[in-house]
Amino acid sequence: METFQNLASLNEESVRLAALADLAILDSDAEREFDAVTKGAATLLGAASAAVSLIDHDRQWFKARHNVDFSETTRDVAFCDQVVERREALVVLDASQDETFRDNPLVTGKPHIRFYAGAPLYLKSGHCVGSLCVLDGQPRESFDDEQLRMLQELASIVEELIEARKARSAASIAAEVVASTPDAVIATNRAGNIVYWNNAAQRVFGWSSEEALGKFIEDVIPSSRPGRNEVLLNAIGTSRKVELIGKFFELEGRGKNGESFPIELSLAPWGDAAEGGLASVVRDISDRKTLEADRDNSKKFLDAVVSNLPSMLFVKDTESHRYLLVNRKAEDIIGRSAESMIGKDDHQLFPTRGAAFKRNDTLAIASGRPEQAESVFERDDGTLVNIRTTRVLVDGPDRPHQYLLGLSEDVTEIRQAEEERWKLARFDTLTGLLNRTSFLEHIETLIEDEASFAVLDINLDRFKSVNDQFGHVIGDEVLKILGGRIGTLADDDNQVARVGGDEFVCLVTGDNLRERTLRFVAQLTEIVREPIMVEGITAHIGAAIGVVFHPEDGADVETLRQHADVAMHRSKSDGRGEPCFFDDQLDVAERDRRRLETNLRSAVAEGSIKVVFQPIVEVSSGEVTSFEALARWTDPNLGPVAPDVFIALAENCGLIDTLGEQILRRACEEARNWPEHMHVAVNLSPRQFASGTLVETILGVLDDTGLAPGRLHLEVTENLVIHNAEEAFAQLTQLKQTGIKIAIDDFGVGYSSLGYFQTFHFDKVKIDKSFIADMEDAIAAKAIVTAVVGLAEKLSMEVVAEGVETIAQQDLLRQLGASHLQGYLYSTPLPGDELARYFTQHEADAAE
Ligand code: C2E
Ligand code: CA
Ligand code: CA
Repeated sequence: METFQNLASLNEESVRLAALADLAILDSDAEREFDAVTKGAATLLGAASAAVSLIDHDRQWFKARHNVDFSETTRDVAFCDQVVERREALVVLDASQDETFRDNPLVTGKPHIRFYAGAPLYLKSGHCVGSLCVLDGQPRESFDDEQLRMLQELASIVEELIEARKARSAASIAAEVVASTPDAVIATNRAGNIVYWNNAAQRVFGWSSEEALGKFIEDVIPSSRPGRNEVLLNAIGTSRKVELIGKFFELEGRGKNGESFPIELSLAPWGDAAEGGLASVVRDISDRKTLEADRDNSKKFLDAVVSNLPSMLFVKDTESHRYLLVNRKAEDIIGRSAESMIGKDDHQLFPTRGAAFKRNDTLAIASGRPEQAESVFERDDGTLVNIRTTRVLVDGPDRPHQYLLGLSEDVTEIRQAEEERWKLARFDTLTGLLNRTSFLEHIETLIEDEASFAVLDINLDRFKSVNDQFGHVIGDEVLKILGGRIGTLADDDNQVARVGGDEFVCLVTGDNLRERTLRFVAQLTEIVREPIMVEGITAHIGAAIGVVFHPEDGADVETLRQHADVAMHRSKSDGRGEPCFFDDQLDVAERDRRRLETNLRSAVAEGSIKVVFQPIVEVSSGEVTSFEALARWTDPNLGPVAPDVFIALAENCGLIDTLGEQILRRACEEARNWPEHMHVAVNLSPRQFASGTLVETILGVLDDTGLAPGRLHLEVTENLVIHNAEEAFAQLTQLKQTGIKIAIDDFGVGYSSLGYFQTFHFDKVKIDKSFIADMEDAIAAKAIVTAVVGLAEKLSMEVVAEGVETIAQQDLLRQLGASHLQGYLYSTPLPGDELARYFTQHEADAAE
């Protein structure tokens, strides 16, 4: 309890000392008022001395003293300290008789105080700072109440002096501050006239204090601009509108030089109701305004840059992941307004893809480095955009890495172009099927994996002639349709590719390989046989198909390719539209074929193919009326090669046009030397019609050799008419118009559709020798011969029966009504020179 009270008083004492220090009165100069009151106290109370004593931390200091020689004493000897301690007046009539003061040095020694009366000095705050005291070297009998009241009265005057002194010093501080503040301070009276104008006001407005005082406030802060400065005038008018006090207004000031400038103004009231007005504290904010304008401009500039950036830009908060900024390009790419996005996160905005965006954000935030990521964005309208975004962390005012800045580019076109390039590199542009490169890659991968698979090598049969006759546009169309059809067979196990002009390949993989390949081949054959309709043209495209199996038919790509080629060529040379599966025999045969092809090529080049002539006898006269030209070739290694074989070979390796023309020319040259009525029959391969120049060639040869067209017979087979009916008939018609006779050869062997007899009028029909051979034993063969003769009679065609070997055959044919006969019975084919010799002999005989 004790200690507590002590502490409290200690605390009180320190506050009292602080209050005293605040007065800034200790050690100050003497002041007249204080001296006067002190002297007055001594005089009025009849004491020798008086003082205004202030009790400092460890001393008493006299603000005023009358007849006191010293200006301070230590605190412990001070009578006044007792007054302060007790906080009440103290009267000591005789100090030498007093318990407390008897031994006080001020009593025992100089100045030898005997009488003391002190009244406390209180501040308004209640602190007791000292006393006003009167003292004397003589003791007194009494100090009555009247006298004490007088002392206290005087003490209260000192108190007022202390307070006034304090107020004075505050006012002088305020005045000093106001005078020296950089803000202009302008006080006006009620009427609005300037009554105070500080230094800063002079600096800000340019008018000196003398010039400014008395001016109306509107002269310096004009209200010329509507809406501005009204506040101030209002305030003046209504005198201190309370709600305007303490607020800041941005107005306009006008300087002495007449220029306006922005100011910030606050109002404070001064004085009282009777006398007073408003003070304006005015700050020239030109610099700040310029700065703000600059900042404003920079911000506008930045905004313009951001919004016109050709890339999409967004800023998100790294904690909330919400969008804070989205530029115009982003609106374009995303297809939504910035307004609808700001404040939301990806999850809210893009429920399906938002998680992926957030993942990318999180990665960038975790790494702290710029991170690039690409994603596919789905617009509200369903279109997809590829966006490549670089994410960067940016420090913010609240924390480091507060913002995530994303710069995105629309890379859709780049990706599409890449995809396009990829497709171009891997797919055939015309058909959309795989191309050679990607197909080979597939095969190589399969070989590496030691997988079993089959490769189908497909070569279109009559594509070249379609292309030649109708042009590339139609040709391409045909390929597209065919590619589309073949493409329908492609699936996970079966790949289809176009590897050349009219070459396709298929790859069959998976289980039950042989069985599935067979099925696949069957489907494929079916598909390519279907007629193709393009722009009113119907093309019958067949295909030669060669099939190889890995690993049975070859362990590497090259071998497989060669063997597939062998099988395909066999399929082609068979000419029946049947696929061919490779086997070893085929390989041997193929090698032979290759050798034969090489030799035939040189034979054609050298012109070493011979032509022989077999006579045809007219039944009615028994005379030879024509000779059929037949080609003969003796291979240097193999000896004589059958014409069926080398003609087919020439057809397949592109030699037929040259060879055909050679034979025709030789035949015509020979026939030129025969008697006028003697005809020559030349065989034409269907392939020769495909060149498109056949008619021209034939007419050219006739022209060159000088043989009359009427002496030339051309033998064509049914095959020709079946595959290219229209074009074939067109060319035949042209030839027939020149006088050339057209015979249909090997009649009855092929499809024997009688329809084409309606379309074209053949001059002759040649019944194939196979019917003649069977005629005597097989009823069917005889019936066919009978029917053909009957048909020919009706259509007024001549009928040639070929392969007549016996008299019996001759008689039967004669009986059935054949008009001409040909066969070994009459003669084998004869070399041209032999014939020439015969005719020369004959002529000579006739001449004799
Ligand atoms: P083809 O046009 O039917 O020719 C008749 C074939 O029958 C010839 O065979 C001829 O020698 C043969 N021959 C004639 N009389 C008899 C006979 O009494 N008995 C038997 N068994 N055969 C007889 P060749 O010369 O071997 O010609 C075979 C085929 O080769 C020809 O059949 C023809 O399609 C083709 N050919 C021959 N030379 C040419 C040619 O110059 N151009 C074209 N495009 N094809 C030709
Ligand atoms: Ca013939
Ligand atoms: Ca024949």
